[in-house]
Amino acid sequence: MRRIFWFRRDLRLQDNEALTRCAEAAISDGDSKVLGCFNFEQGTFETLSGIRQHSIVASLESLNNSMSGALQVLEGEAAEALARLSQRENVEIVHATESFDPAGILEQEQVAKSLAALGKKLVLEGSNYAVTPGAVVKPTDGSAYRVYTPFYKAWFEIGWPEPFKLPTKTNWVRASEAEIPRPTKPAQFKVRAGEQFALETFERFKKRALFDYSENRNRADLSGTSKLSHALAHGEIHPRTLLSDLRDTDGHNVFRKEIAWREFYADVLFRNPHTLNDYYVPRFSKMRYDTGQEADQKLERWKQGTTGFPMIDAGMRQLATEGWMHNRVRMIVASFLVKDLHLEWQLGADWFEKCLSDFDPASNSHGWQWTAGCGTDASPYYRVFNPVLQGYKFDPDGNYVRKYIPELSHLDGPEVHEPWLLVDGLINGYPEPMLDHSKERDESLRRLEEIKEK
Ligand code: FAD
Repeated sequence: MRRIFWFRRDLRLQDNEALTRCAEAAISDGDSKVLGCFNFEQGTFETLSGIRQHSIVASLESLNNSMSGALQVLEGEAAEALARLSQRENVEIVHATESFDPAGILEQEQVAKSLAALGKKLVLEGSNYAVTPGAVVKPTDGSAYRVYTPFYKAWFEIGWPEPFKLPTKTNWVRASEAEIPRPTKPAQFKVRAGEQFALETFERFKKRALFDYSENRNRADLSGTSKLSHALAHGEIHPRTLLSDLRDTDGHNVFRKEIAWREFYADVLFRNPHTLNDYYVPRFSKMRYDTGQEADQKLERWKQGTTGFPMIDAGMRQLATEGWMHNRVRMIVASFLVKDLHLEWQLGADWFEKCLSDFDPASNSHGWQWTAGCGTDASPYYRVFNPVLQGYKFDPDGNYVRKYIPELSHLDGPEVHEPWLLVDGLINGYPEPMLDHSKERDESLRRLEEIKEK
């Protein structure tokens, strides 16, 4: 046996370019044997929320089942772990999907170096995107697009190949019993994940919601989106598989555009790796942000979903229980953190990273920066979401709020968005709003004025 396949954020067998190429190479080696492995670090794993831990475990279990139990799980630093495994199994070549985010790039460089020191090779192919980050450039001067719409047009023109098929002759080698990590924290429900589940979720979405996607995707109270972000983040499904099934109708076109946002942000982060944690528009780092004990307390209320603004609290509680939040609500809670609480976007992004089972470094950092007004193609900073009006608009009957805030479940209809106006609105202990939105909006605009380019 001469080849290892190192699964990273591509936990699937089908439409996996790097895996298909690895299996084809193994077949032409003459023995068709591939050893599939996944590496994790216990310390990092333990910092994740229960729901994120459970979702990773569910993905791995599903992958392991689809390989008839042959997945080899390694623990420790990837560079050391892969070097050890390849020595022990006498393997010359390790294949993997190429990463384009800062941590993934560093990791693959370290693995390549440690293998090279043993005279072995890391072969990186494919990506987790339909179009490889860095490939979309302006035809005029070869530079990157900073704005989404022209990026989308150029991205669509480049296009993508048909989904890749794993050769049926692939022969998984069983190196030793798979030891999939065990969650160290509980989750509130049994997480379902994996390649088959992702394909079924897509089939259901196509029947259930794709037709009306352009109408319903912004409604927090409806199940109007695909909920495929977890599967895409773990690589249980490739965007190519989704795109190859789309046609030219309203719903299909808007869905394709949403997938392209993920690709746009991956491209932006690849070209600007510092923007993972730093401002894309540097002058925003000069803005006055709140810090200290009072700011910490405000952050804590935001995290716990006890701000007294039902739409914010419902979103934060959905995040804590489900490890997922509706896109519209992500924008509302992010705007609140930056423009009502006057905290830096990175504090919110860190919390999202801990809790989101669909955490993706590019979409998270740039989703935050877009909302905070300091990102590429950003929503203008002076556009401050009003958390109450957003509630009336995107949860018109109040069903989303009632679902996640039991203290408000006794209230009927949209009035749930302003419980403090009702005689019995706060009888179950739901708090008063922690701030006056219009006052904080003005404060936020004052701070913007201070950093405006003269
Ligand atoms: P659908 O509406 O069904 O969209 C299909 C797919 O398109 C999604 O699964 C996702 O991969 C992609 N997509 C849709 N909208 C966006 C978008 N605005 N930006 C990038 N990709 C998009 N998405 C993540 O996958 N991981 C994150 O860590 C993440 N953090 C975010 C943080 C903030 C502050 C904001 C505003 C958005 C963030 N998003 C993130 C984007 C978006 O909220 C989720 O992708 C979406 O809610 C996932 O639900 P869905 O699969 O039902 O989406």
